[in-house]
Amino acid sequence: MKIAVLAGDGIGPEIVAEAIKIFDVLRAEGETIEIERAHLGGAAHDAEGHPYPPSTQRIAGAADAVLLGAVGGPQYDSLPRAMRPEQGILGIRKDLQLFANLRPALLYPELAGASSLKPEIVAGLDLMIIRELTGDIYFGQPRGRRTNAQGDDEGFDTMLYARPEIERIARVGFATAMKRGRKLCSVDKANVLDTSILWREVVTGLAHEYPEVQLSHMYVDNAAMQLVRAPKQFDVIVTGNIFGDILSDEASMLAGSIGMLPSASLDARGKGLYEPIHGSAPDIAGTNKANPLATVLSVGMMFRYTFGRADLAARIEAAVRRVLAAGLRTGDIAAPGEAVTGTREMGDALVAALRK
Ligand code: NAD
Repeated sequence: MKIAVLAGDGIGPEIVAEAIKIFDVLRAEGETIEIERAHLGGAAHDAEGHPYPPSTQRIAGAADAVLLGAVGGPQYDSLPRAMRPEQGILGIRKDLQLFANLRPALLYPELAGASSLKPEIVAGLDLMIIRELTGDIYFGQPRGRRTNAQGDDEGFDTMLYARPEIERIARVGFATAMKRGRKLCSVDKANVLDTSILWREVVTGLAHEYPEVQLSHMYVDNAAMQLVRAPKQFDVIVTGNIFGDILSDEASMLAGSIGMLPSASLDARGKGLYEPIHGSAPDIAGTNKANPLATVLSVGMMFRYTFGRADLAARIEAAVRRVLAAGLRTGDIAAPGEAVTGTREMGDALVAALRK
């Protein structure tokens, strides 16, 4: 298992250090895990003059999977656009052709009080949003600015999906549903958009290949509403880039803190970039306050989706449950008055729970 580790900026190095402890435990048990570190984002710009330098391209390209902390920070805000940390993330996604973004929203019962929704609506929530990452209105051509016949400024973008792009993301949806609760909800806007009419047609056309999966369709406006009304009705949601962007952020809040949520971005062969959904949290960087669990759970996803090691993923998830059940809380998930655990201490407790 060859893993490229990109700690990045802000809290990135702190949370990644806790995830590395997991690799150390598993290596001591005899797993063959090889780690190579590289720079990404602001740290890469500082060290090598580019947010996604050639050395990182080489190391990430040669690895089976990539673990990323987070990138960005106010000290980089004045850099020219091409040199900014987020260009590092966009660059690596494009370079590795990561088209499928998997974002679970899972609420641990111990944290039901941390959600902004009533505990009875979210307790036991476990859904997966699969967002297409390389197409749609974010990349469709033509786009731009122009002046119309009346002399008014116009801005325009093109929503566009080709059949093969829809097919491959839909297949990720069906396959993921097969590994979970076997329910797939495809989200579109087929009552208004031609792109969505094709989307629905293609997804429906694949359903016979997955007879065990119960497929449904939902308009995106309704999906946004259902996610806060009755989120537990969903198992797997598959959708395009822009709808997925918005719905996955909405779903992340159902689960309480963004410090708990991992993500995976996969290519066609299962290689993946794994990262917490949160950013580099410059406000708490270097203070041992960051919650490392989203990064730890990203490692769990890596074992499940790239390495086919559901056993190791399940152990990591069980260890997270155990530390939460034992009452350990970083600041972001602590209720008022609850004792607060540091980043390193949380990582150590997790390792102890993993060893059991
Ligand atoms: P953020 O996610 O970094 O932080 C938002 C809030 O959540 C902050 O108060 C932060 O302290 C808190 N938080 C985030 N992660 C936490 C954790 N693990 N434990 C405890 N608290 C946590 O978002 P932001 O403040 O909007 O952005 C900060 C920087 O991160 C910016 O430069 C932004 O561009 C970058 N960013 C990077 C990524 C990425 O690397 N994928 C994603 C989003 C934002």
